[in-house]
Amino acid sequence: MMDTKTLLEWSATYHTPNYGARAPICLVRGDGVRVWDSDGREYLDFGAGIAVTSLGHCHPRVTGAIQEAAATLLHVSNLYHSAPQIHLAKLLCEHSFAERVFFGNSGAEANEAAIKLARKYAKTRWSDDRYEIVATRDSFHGRTLAALTATGQEKYQHGFEPLVPGFKHVPYNDLKAMERAVDGRTAAILVECIQGEGGVNIPDDGYLPGLRTLCDATGALLILDEVQTGVGRTGRLWAYEHTGIAPDIMTLAKALANGVPIGAMLARNEIASVLTAGTHGSTFGGTPFVTSVALATLTAVLEEKIPDRAARMGRHLMDGLRDVGRRHPAVRDVRGRGLLIGVELTQAVSPLVDACREAGLLVLSAGEKVLRLTPPLVVGEAECDRALEIIDRVLPP
Ligand SMILES: *Cc1c(COP(=O)(O)O)cnc(C)c1O
Repeated sequence: MMDTKTLLEWSATYHTPNYGARAPICLVRGDGVRVWDSDGREYLDFGAGIAVTSLGHCHPRVTGAIQEAAATLLHVSNLYHSAPQIHLAKLLCEHSFAERVFFGNSGAEANEAAIKLARKYAKTRWSDDRYEIVATRDSFHGRTLAALTATGQEKYQHGFEPLVPGFKHVPYNDLKAMERAVDGRTAAILVECIQGEGGVNIPDDGYLPGLRTLCDATGALLILDEVQTGVGRTGRLWAYEHTGIAPDIMTLAKALANGVPIGAMLARNEIASVLTAGTHGSTFGGTPFVTSVALATLTAVLEEKIPDRAARMGRHLMDGLRDVGRRHPAVRDVRGRGLLIGVELTQAVSPLVDACREAGLLVLSAGEKVLRLTPPLVVGEAECDRALEIIDRVLPP
């Protein structure tokens, strides 16, 4: 194989520079919670991509589904029906509030579909001037133009203006601010159940139920972006299950096919019905290949009671992080739900991410000062303890 130095030089030469802050390693192989780089170094993967490979790398049921699909039928267009797509939609509906599913290829596309559906529904059900989406500051909804406009962080938007008209932002976890922002022009409220990229921000228990009440009173739709929180990550299959309410529309992506690109938008039938024939679509959305992999993933998540595992291991990891935090004044707060965990620091997080990697542990950041841990949901106690040991060692005393 090509030596690492040459690979990194070619990467700097041939890629668009938008990933210019990449870590200087090239990952070549994975197994469960571990990955290896091109120099043979082993890492514990506590990012799981970015909360993607929830069943770990090369899970046998996922690998089996990939091999079978590759040898059977990779692609057909949405001009025809295909069985895995139908089975996946049915399984998603049977295990959620939803009655209808649309498949795309990413989180951003799932959110685009949700935004388009909310607009179409509001125009059809109410009036032509009802199209606004109210989203929250510090949110993350993806990089396509409408999803980027919904994203409440200027750093992602800068330079790409003009953005899409019809979006407003209010502070997250501020019900009063949302009540002031929602009016007769509001088609939908769009929020994450927990803000992932924005800092692992967990709202008060009353926030999502409050948004539900507000939507019911005004006729606005409630869209929950569960691209990061969905499929067991927070210790329930969907994060909204912690709250006692259900959305009108939910978006999924990251972990849904354990690393094969997929996005999904789920909705109640009454709402989905406005997406009549020809109004939306995707060339690659929901191919037999990706949907059979997602079907294997979701089946494993359900049969192996992965959400319960995430809840249990999340408690273990968070207890351990709180212990570590007591020994290091740089730790300001430890928060999370299931295995979506944030460690807020008093200082910049990026040197710590680098130090962890150099010590053999891959972790993520969320914003400037939050260390984010999103290990595979199949992680074991011994692996958590090893990660805690490394974090304890690299934190400033
Ligand atoms: C990652 C993420 C997205 C965007 O997903 P892509 O697949 O990168 O388009 C959207 N919303 C949330 C909450 C995310 O975490």
